[in-house]
Amino acid sequence: MVKDKLLFNGNEKQVFSTDDPVQVIFRYKDVTTAYHGVKRARFNGKGALTSQISALLLGYLNENGVDTHFIRTLSDEREQLCRMIEIIPLEVVFHNRICGSLATKLGVEDGMKPENTILDLCYNNDELGDPLINRDQAVALKLATYPELDMMYDIVRRSGQLLTDLLHQAGIELVDAKFEFGRAADTGAIIISDELSPDTCRMWDEETGERLDKDRFRLDLGDLVPSYSIVLEKLRNVMETEE
Ligand code: 5GP
Repeated sequence: MVKDKLLFNGNEKQVFSTDDPVQVIFRYKDVTTAYHGVKRARFNGKGALTSQISALLLGYLNENGVDTHFIRTLSDEREQLCRMIEIIPLEVVFHNRICGSLATKLGVEDGMKPENTILDLCYNNDELGDPLINRDQAVALKLATYPELDMMYDIVRRSGQLLTDLLHQAGIELVDAKFEFGRAADTGAIIISDELSPDTCRMWDEETGERLDKDRFRLDLGDLVPSYSIVLEKLRNVMETEE
């Protein structure tokens, strides 16, 4: 697999073309940003951790009937071979608890646990601050069709449950998770893209309630690397036992 041109240089990831027109290489950076790029820092080793955690979670979804862009990790642990997609600039956020911006919006205590799970649709647009958007608005902007939105919601419900159960086995509570999507270049199917890691999901230690995710950075609670290492170790323990 030959790494070719830099296609995209994001805050936390780079995407390269390869000699295969339907495959790309994702490279995870050590940089972390929050509040739409306003807050920024570097944590040595963070990219290797988010890449490995994301590989485990995306790989688990692939194995359990939910297609994602992830193919395999490469010899550099910060890099993954992924399917090329056409980006759908929408995010669906799955909430087991009401935290962060949703708690602020609804005026409830951060961490409130509702009886139902909540799905939010957001327009992935940094300049606008990734605002909430509804289905009609998303269709009006030609970001997706109604059947595609139905498919994305179905994928998020199934994936959210699979990941909640997997992380629970590892002693981690999945508080919320952000999913991104694309149309696969080879089949046109809607698949999960981007990453699933403590950078994009809230994860709490079930025993201690400690936040093991990017909120450590957002709320100045300390280094990310020790917490992300715990997530990776706990996941490896449970996933290696399963094999
Ligand atoms: P919130 O809306 O509270 O900022 O985020 C809700 C969940 O989605 C959190 O798990 C958060 O990490 C994830 N999330 C939402 N938008 C973004 C984003 O633009 N970047 C990242 N890394 N995560 C996001």
